[in-house]
Amino acid sequence: MKYISTRGRAPTLSFEEAMLTGLARDGGLYLPESIPVMAADDIRALEGVSYEEAAFRVMRPYIGDAFTDDEFRGIIARAYEGFGHAARAPLKQLDSGHFLLELFHGPTLAFKDFAMQLIGQMFEFSLKRSGSRVSIVGATSGDTGSAAIEAFRGLDAVDVFILYPHGRVSEVQRRQMTTPGESNVHALAIDGHFDDAQARVKDMFNDFEFRDGVRLAGVNSINWARVLAQVVYYFTSAVSLGAPDRKVSFTVPTGNFGDVFAGYIAKRMGLPIDRLVVATNQNDILHRCLSTGDYRPDGVAPSISPSMDIQVSSNFERALFYAYGQDGNAVGQVMDELKAGGFTVSQGALEALRETFDSGRCDEDQTRAAIRETWGASGELLCPHSAVGVHVAEAQRDAHVPMITLATAHPAKFPAAVEEASGIHPPLPARMADLYERDERVTRVENDLSAIETLIKERIAH
Ligand SMILES: *Cc1c(COP(=O)(O)O)cnc(C)c1O
Repeated sequence: MKYISTRGRAPTLSFEEAMLTGLARDGGLYLPESIPVMAADDIRALEGVSYEEAAFRVMRPYIGDAFTDDEFRGIIARAYEGFGHAARAPLKQLDSGHFLLELFHGPTLAFKDFAMQLIGQMFEFSLKRSGSRVSIVGATSGDTGSAAIEAFRGLDAVDVFILYPHGRVSEVQRRQMTTPGESNVHALAIDGHFDDAQARVKDMFNDFEFRDGVRLAGVNSINWARVLAQVVYYFTSAVSLGAPDRKVSFTVPTGNFGDVFAGYIAKRMGLPIDRLVVATNQNDILHRCLSTGDYRPDGVAPSISPSMDIQVSSNFERALFYAYGQDGNAVGQVMDELKAGGFTVSQGALEALRETFDSGRCDEDQTRAAIRETWGASGELLCPHSAVGVHVAEAQRDAHVPMITLATAHPAKFPAAVEEASGIHPPLPARMADLYERDERVTRVENDLSAIETLIKERIAH
């Protein structure tokens, strides 16, 4: 399997190369040259197998010869052994026809662990084999960073640098990034928003001298291997509700469009997904774009679902690539327009997007109401991101197709917002109950590319 860039001007890479590189050198994102289709019988055969076995079968066609079957099975087993639930991604019922896919049983209590734990194990395997070393740099609105640090802490061949917006992540998120004591972990608090942190990471990848000098590797949601890991739970949950012999729909709380794009890949692979509903908070650029065709960032308004406080949604570029008929030049052009303020999706591309995606928005009051009402109706305590999903799903679902809403984080990761909405204080799972007592270690940085690059060079020289 070969990987191509959404902008069509970077060399094609193998799975392993695309994984280790992250962002393509033409500024684009990697995608498989073609999407393998899974036969209905093979989908049906996923019923009842372990999460790990399903992960192996769904992902195997994408990895080429990067790992042998035995090696890949071992990587998957190690990735998910630290999860606090035997099913890894259990499905719960909220109401008739409405289900909640709990993706928060990993070590940092958010769905990002599914991808990051896997990528950590794949990086370790690859780098050990080649005897090389990389610097992982990522931007986070909170959950990616904690998941990355948890996945890479203590690994020999990796330094991990995470930029998060100072003062704009929850205390649990911050502590998950600042309390690991391993010397290869570097939490950097940047003065700015998530979009600033993400922009500086992109700048570092576009500074080829720096990029090559420190052997930069990216594990943000732009990394194809992360998208791939997220395809798996669309299959496991849909199969448990009767796929491929019954259609299902999904509602996905969305920021960078990585998780919901994984659903799109699952659909292209043959999973009978009826609707994929993009759920946004008040930072609703994706909902506006799918409604009007206009994609124009207009500033982030901090919300109680901070992991979705995003106006520049990186993975949307991948959806645009398919919507524009895999025309890298067209994608490059709209991305240039975005740099100048925004773009309008062509009529044809907008129709293509709407064939798969619906969208909805949920404001702050609606988010709190969804937490309160879901608690009252089913005894499920939702995190604010999951509540955005449930609110939008309730508005969009129909009686004939079961709706699965993705629960992207554990309520205890956002205790203040959950308690304010429901009156219930969500306790941390016992395995991480001492988080509030551990010592923190963090470096404040300006929103300035050369200052950040200098700091990284100094740190890896030691
Ligand atoms: C990252 C995150 C999201 C958004 O996921 P994307 O893949 O960026 O769309 C939603 N909820 C939580 C809790 C997250 O951590």
